[in-house]
Amino acid sequence: MPKRLIRYAVVGLGHIAQVAVLPAFGNARRNSRLAAIVSGDPVKREQVQKKYAVPNAYAYDEYDRCLASGEVDAVYLALPNHLHCDYAERAARAGVHVLCEKPMALDEAQCERMAAAARAAGVKLMVAYRLHFERANLEAIETARSGRIGEPRLFNSTFVTPVVPGNIRVRRETGGGVLWDVGIYCINAARGLFRDEPIEVGAATAGRLDEVEESVSCWMRFPNERLASFTASFGAAKVSSYRIAGTKGDLAVDPAYEYAKPLKHRLTIDGEVRERRFAKRDQFAPELLYFSDCVLQNRDPEPSAEEGLADVRIIRALYRAAESGHPVALAPFERRERQSLEQEIRRPPIDKPQVVHAEAPSGAGGQHP
Ligand code: NDP
Repeated sequence: MPKRLIRYAVVGLGHIAQVAVLPAFGNARRNSRLAAIVSGDPVKREQVQKKYAVPNAYAYDEYDRCLASGEVDAVYLALPNHLHCDYAERAARAGVHVLCEKPMALDEAQCERMAAAARAAGVKLMVAYRLHFERANLEAIETARSGRIGEPRLFNSTFVTPVVPGNIRVRRETGGGVLWDVGIYCINAARGLFRDEPIEVGAATAGRLDEVEESVSCWMRFPNERLASFTASFGAAKVSSYRIAGTKGDLAVDPAYEYAKPLKHRLTIDGEVRERRFAKRDQFAPELLYFSDCVLQNRDPEPSAEEGLADVRIIRALYRAAESGHPVALAPFERRERQSLEQEIRRPPIDKPQVVHAEAPSGAGGQHP
């Protein structure tokens, strides 16, 4: 009998794991199962295991045993950014496929190590870019590609989300920083919409929140005289929008990056305005469904290690630009594959579950990308 189900261990039971990843398994039954959880918190292990009837629960010092148990085919890494590389490499070396939260890692060398480990072991590695399976984002990309707004020339975006002190996003040792957490969405959107890679970037930071910058404004120069700019921040009320302007019209998406709200388009072509609302959906089950199919059908995922690296190298260049006060040139980078509408997967929204010892980045009860 050919194998039809991929068994996952979800590693790290923080906010995103509990509000989005664990419940998504209910929407991904076709090819995915929750087989194990890995957590450093015994109360979480006990309560989450019971709630989702998970066959096995492990502590971090039992991670390698979990990988070797023969009970899991893949891991979903929902750990702080500084742990993505180590946990991904160990999984790959054990022959276990890796679905890793964004950002892929904290520098290019870590990304290369993860990709090399996956290649050497013959396992799949995907970075969890949920918007690569979501219709509002994919249609925006299709609109830009189709020529409906003419030739896309300019991208502009604002992504602001409040974060409380002490969160992993504002601590250095856990890989905090505005660009790693939310700026990455703006970068990924600009690259997807222009279907290209920037050649030069500049940035300025402002303010301080715990150990990281509070806000950052960035520009990215793309080939053929196209410009992208964005402001990302932890220091104001929520804004989540972008606009792509072409020679004949423009498309504004607002909200653009959320997983807990309907997303909206406002398309203007030759002065005529059309608005569209995209229903709220589960954006995490599609990642599981897509990744499990990649494993089962031996296909390489589109949000690949290369896609993860493409954003990481830009983030690093932007921080260098902000530190030096000078623009930073980027080496040519070829991205072989781009997201497309064919990747859309629709699943109904999930009800927000009760969480155990986990807090939203913006404080109790909040939502966050
Ligand atoms: P949380 O801080 O809520 O959770 C992180 C979890 O990692 C902790 O609860 C803990 O789980 C575990 N952990 C292990 N070691 C450490 C450590 N040294 N310090 C802190 N936590 C540790 O973060 P989020 O869930 O918000 O984010 C986790 C990852 O998911 C990040 O990479 C983030 O970028 C990404 N993310 C992606 C989103 C998306 O939309 N795709 C949205 C939000 C986050 P335990 O107690 O079980 O051991």
